[in-house]
This record gives sequence, structure tokens and C-alpha cells, in this order.
Amino acid sequence: MKPNAANVSNEEIQNTQVPLTQARFFAVFDPKSPTDSLSGLSLQLLEEQKQSWPQLAQGYASLATVKLRELQCDGYRVFLQFNPGRIVSTGAKVDERSIRERPCFLCVENLPQPQKGILYGEEFLVLCNPAPIFREHLTISNVNHIPQAIGPFLDTFLSLARDLSPGFSLFYNGARCGASAPDHMHFQANPSGAIPVEKDSGDTTRRELRKRIGDVSLFSLERYGRRVLVLECASKEALQTVLRSTIASIQRLIGTSEEPLLNILASYEPHIWRVILFPRDKHRPDAYFKEGKERILISPAAVDIGGLVITPLERDFESVDAGMIERIFAEVSIEQQMFEEMIEGIRA
Ligand SMILES: [Zn+2]
Repeated sequence: MKPNAANVSNEEIQNTQVPLTQARFFAVFDPKSPTDSLSGLSLQLLEEQKQSWPQLAQGYASLATVKLRELQCDGYRVFLQFNPGRIVSTGAKVDERSIRERPCFLCVENLPQPQKGILYGEEFLVLCNPAPIFREHLTISNVNHIPQAIGPFLDTFLSLARDLSPGFSLFYNGARCGASAPDHMHFQANPSGAIPVEKDSGDTTRRELRKRIGDVSLFSLERYGRRVLVLECASKEALQTVLRSTIASIQRLIGTSEEPLLNILASYEPHIWRVILFPRDKHRPDAYFKEGKERILISPAAVDIGGLVITPLERDFESVDAGMIERIFAEVSIEQQMFEEMIEGIRA
């Protein structure tokens, strides 16, 4: 129920935060006893929000005008997407000071007035992304302002991937590796199969089985120009354990207790999860920081390193070639040797 400002005191209004949050709910989804499909509910949310939220309608109108270009790289294909609406994200300042000084755009109290979401469990809100890359693009953010880190939410990540299937896949950008809100925990979702690596990771001529740990199979992808680990398993718990061990293995190699630089994608097909993990050496390539004509505004996160490279500037869209993409992918991925040691260090 919305508070009625006419007959409540200021103090009472301040104490009505919960009802105000509830006014944001388009629907409530309980993963423990689902009554609707989350995938279906999310599509309904999108339709409703396109009607009631002009900024979102504008974002999708702008998406309809994006241009695509296919590049044949050495052993794999990528697509460039010229999407001027993404300049905010690609050009985002993600240093600590800039983050501290801006109002957080994922905090419930800062969401634009017409924005609504689907409450998922008790902690996450499924929202529409107002600067879409995909024909359906969701942001799933924590209801609390807590830092971006997947460790505490691996179970949620895999549950969401299952519950958003069959329509959507899920992805995560590490706090130092593409998240434009590194201070606020969130995932994103894309239409299943819209990121090239989703299909490439199932290509049996490309995948090489590296290890089996219990029920979890670990593959690498060959002729792919970047380091990627693919994990498959029918047990959420077993997969979680191996994912945790993978992250710990990278941490040992680089000698840190912080979350390493990574991008992770997850999808679910009855009854198996597939997780695709890109361990990274750096977030933005050197070319991003150059001046004038040498500057290339490509800031690779999960979608880009997955093979759909976003270029918010038309100049880059026209001029970037296969060789540049190969160099950027090689530059931002961890080295082959470290990748081998990472796999070596993954245990049950
Ligand atoms: Zn926040």
C-alpha cells in the first residue's frame, strides 16, 4: 500500500521505506516455489516498461538503429555492434573516486520514477536495462548497496540462470572488469544465444576436455584467440564448488585475496548448467587510453570478450579490423601459461 501523504507525519513517511520499495514491484518471484516462469514474467515487464518508461522506449528505439559488422578473426568470428547509446557505459569512469562521488544508479531509491522490477527471492530485483545491447536486456541488481563480488552469490547466479531459462542467459562482470557499477552487486541477462561464445562453447570441434572433477566437466576452447574455461554440470552444488576452486586457483597464482579480473556467463538447458569463464589480465586495452586517432573506444566486458564487441563510436565501428580485435583479446586475457596453471590448481 502506498503511504497517503495527506494524513501521515514526516516521521511516519520516513518509516515507510518498505511500502515505497514494494511500489517498485512489478511482480514477486519465489525461486523456492515458482508459480510463473521468470523468463515469461521478464518479457511482460519489458513490454510494460516500454509503455510506461519513456527512457526505456527511447533506448529500444535507438537499439533498432544499431549497425552490425562481422569480422573473421584467426579461428573465430566476432560481431561489431555500433551502438551510440552505450557511450555512457563504455566511457564510464570506474575509478574509486568517480564512483564514490556519483549517486548509485542501481540503488532502489535512485531508480527513475517509472522503473519497476521483479523481486527475485528476497535480495534481487530484475530490472530493464535502459541502454540495451540486446532486444531483451535485463539487469538483476541486489536490493542493497553492496559491492560487486560474485563469491557470496554463486548459488543465486546459478539459480537465476536456471530460472531465467529458456529465454535468457546470465552474465557477470567483475568489479574491476567491466561492471559500470562496481559498488553495487548486479548481474545482467541477454536473450539465450545472443553472445557468440554461447554457441562456440558447444562446438565439439573446438572444445577440448581438460579435466573432470566429480560430475563437473571442464573444457577449453581451441583456436579462440583468448583464454576461456567452460564448465558443465547437472548439479548446482558441485558446479559451485568447482567455480569457487577456479577463482581460488587464480587468486593463488596472482597472490591476492581480492576477486580476480573475470567475466562469467551462465546458461541452463534441462538439466545441465554451462558456465563460461574468461580469466582476464586487464580490463581496458592500452588503445583505450591513447589520444586522438589512435584511441579505440572498446572496453571489453562479458559481451565483448564473448564475441559481440560494442563500439559506441562510428569511427571505431568502421575502422576496427580483425587484427585489432585479435590483439585486444590477447592483451586483456591471461597468458596461456597462467591459464594452464589455473586449470592445474582447480580441485574438488
Ligand atoms: Zn547502489
